Amino acid sequence: MPLYQGHLFSFESADDLAAAFHGPDEAFFYARMGNPTVRSLERAVTDVEGGAGALATASGMGAVNAVLMGLLRSGDHVIAQTALYGGTYALFQDLADRWGVDVTYIAADDPAEVRDALRPTTRLLYLETIANPTTHVTDLPAFTEAVRGTGVLTVVDNTFAPLLCRPIEHGADIVVHSTTKYLSGHGDVIGGIAVFADRDVHHRVWSHAVELGSVADPFAAWMTLRGLATMPLRVERQSASALDVARRLAAHPAADRVHYPGLDDHPQCAVARRLLPDGSGGVLAFEPTGGRDAGRVFSEAVRLISLGPSLGDIASLVMHPASTSHRQMDAASLAAAGIGEGTVRLSIGLEHPDDLWADIEQALAKSA
Ligand SMILES: *Cc1c(COP(=O)(O)O)cnc(C)c1O
Repeated sequence: MPLYQGHLFSFESADDLAAAFHGPDEAFFYARMGNPTVRSLERAVTDVEGGAGALATASGMGAVNAVLMGLLRSGDHVIAQTALYGGTYALFQDLADRWGVDVTYIAADDPAEVRDALRPTTRLLYLETIANPTTHVTDLPAFTEAVRGTGVLTVVDNTFAPLLCRPIEHGADIVVHSTTKYLSGHGDVIGGIAVFADRDVHHRVWSHAVELGSVADPFAAWMTLRGLATMPLRVERQSASALDVARRLAAHPAADRVHYPGLDDHPQCAVARRLLPDGSGGVLAFEPTGGRDAGRVFSEAVRLISLGPSLGDIASLVMHPASTSHRQMDAASLAAAGIGEGTVRLSIGLEHPDDLWADIEQALAKSA
């Protein structure tokens, strides 16, 4: 697919141009409403997720925002899982504080939580396939079943599990991704996408997205298309290496607990086996026996792995949330979010697993 960088498209007929204004599937005329390279990405990810259409956005948060602001109004109620991506959680807080949207948070361990929280005003159920950083896995078929027939739409953030899980097959109505992560895959793109099971819902969100202006830039879409071509190979290798690292960590005396859905002692291991039969993705976390200091020292002692945010990159990354992204939180609030003071998150890249393990082992030795 070439890069169509142009933002305007000209017409012979005024009627043809007028018709182009009507929706996401019409002729290209102005790139905020659609662009050939961006649409090519939208079609590819629609196929990957098995949807009816997609909306590519400027970032993952752009997709989350377009979906939430496009479908909710003041007085509406949302049921969301507690372990959410930080930016999504902040947006829900904002929607509650400033826009009068009620949000009920659930642990997402039991679909009965949804039935208890449902109200006549409930519009959306918001879930994540695998949540950060402790890799909680949500039983998507059971949760979408809990709202079947109520008119509530289920939104699933599938950023951690592209290809490994296809939420629409499990009853989801909308899937969002930060394409910044696995879809582009090389740490050189900011982007997002929302995939819709239903054309009308796609149309409603698109109408809001063109007002919001959070649309994908053609160059970012083109880079993401290039990334998509290798995604199956990357995700397979990253899942295999993450499982290898998780097993070795679980057997190491300096790691107290390892969080990875592919391990037999994971709290949702049975769900993961059903939902993620081909692998559990590249993200794992562990609790160093030395607690907070050990987590921080480990994150600075790695050499092959880089200390930095993000995930899904070809390069492996480490984060110690308590001393970085979550530094404002005390031990109690961290615990409420399921994060330990020492918790270390790893996003496994494409390096050789033996090289990764050698790096992890030397960093564990320094942090013990
Ligand atoms: C990174 C991320 C986002 C936000 O994506 P951006 O591209 O940074 O805007 C949303 N959800 C999850 C699960 C993420 O990891």
